[in-house]
Amino acid sequence: MNILVTGGAGFIGSNFIFHLLRTYPSYRIICVDKLTYAGNLSTLTSVMTNPNFRFVKADICDRKAINQLFEEEKPDMIVNFAAESHVDRSINNPGIFLETNILGTDVLMDACLKYGIKRYHQVSTDEVYGDLPLDRPDLLFTETTPLHPSSSYSSSKAAADLLVLSYFRTYGLPVTISRCSNNYGPYQYPEKLIPLMIVNALNNQQLPVYGNGQNVRDWLYVEDHCRAIDLVIHKGREGEVYNIGGHNEMANINIVKLICKELGKSEDLITYVADRKGHDLRYAIDPTKIYTELGWLPETKFANGIKKTIQWYLDNHQWREDIISGV
Ligand code: NAD
Repeated sequence: MNILVTGGAGFIGSNFIFHLLRTYPSYRIICVDKLTYAGNLSTLTSVMTNPNFRFVKADICDRKAINQLFEEEKPDMIVNFAAESHVDRSINNPGIFLETNILGTDVLMDACLKYGIKRYHQVSTDEVYGDLPLDRPDLLFTETTPLHPSSSYSSSKAAADLLVLSYFRTYGLPVTISRCSNNYGPYQYPEKLIPLMIVNALNNQQLPVYGNGQNVRDWLYVEDHCRAIDLVIHKGREGEVYNIGGHNEMANINIVKLICKELGKSEDLITYVADRKGHDLRYAIDPTKIYTELGWLPETKFANGIKKTIQWYLDNHQWREDIISGV
């Protein structure tokens, strides 16, 4: 099996590559990544000399480069992680989000149609559903919840999802989509909440928290997400969407306080800053479908996962210094 993983030098894509190489020693994995600020080649150091792995620096929007790669590698499956992924950046510069997240997806699916493929998998997000009220804990996102995105990031991901489903309906392209809640774990760029707070706390810098800090996210350890995608690409039904989440809702401020406690830092570092524009209040996933159809359940409890994540950032000082400085 030849699997083309896009965006594999980023956070979840790299963890997924490690998962595949560990789980399927006979598979060949080709990683395509543009190496934007969020992609870091040193993340892939441990697999670079693996004969079953190839790294290619390319932009998924570059039709010629992508078609050439399909001709060379004839991949059986594509798992598309490549994206501009940070909401704050999409507020300041939406254009690049539309290019990579929508047009890049289109280029990949056209190549799938042209060269033939067993499965195209789109890695999407729960943010396409918009948000839920804070005072209705009974409400959860299901796969049939209407798409109601709030930012240019989530709008571009929602547009890509619709495009992927249209390639299934119109051309019969064998596609699947997964929509996951917030991930945390090793190799996450320190602009997202958890790694930013860990890195700032380690440097005794302020811990900026949006608004009153009560916004709720549903956290999942990255390896649980990778196992879920593995199941969807091998056993999921074509044309279907699968929500992924572990029923682990937490207010942002509680995450930040927990990180302070784990690192022995004072909560005086916490600084409340002006709220994000259009800030989603709460995300919460109903993962019933992936559990009943594919038997997926999360394995890592948040209490353990956050300890492992903090330890990883402590142990990988050079990685975090290099990615912040751009080296
Ligand atoms: P990330 O920002 O860490 O990594 C994105 C990777 O894509 C980087 O390596 C970057 O260099 C690469 N990339 C960007 N533009 C590219 C282009 N035009 N061509 C080729 N490569 C390009 O993101 P992540 O957090 O690992 O997220 C991966 C995917 O998972 C995204 O599609 C995101 O929407 C989705 N997702 C993320 C989360 C989360 O909590 N991080 C949750 C649900 C879904």
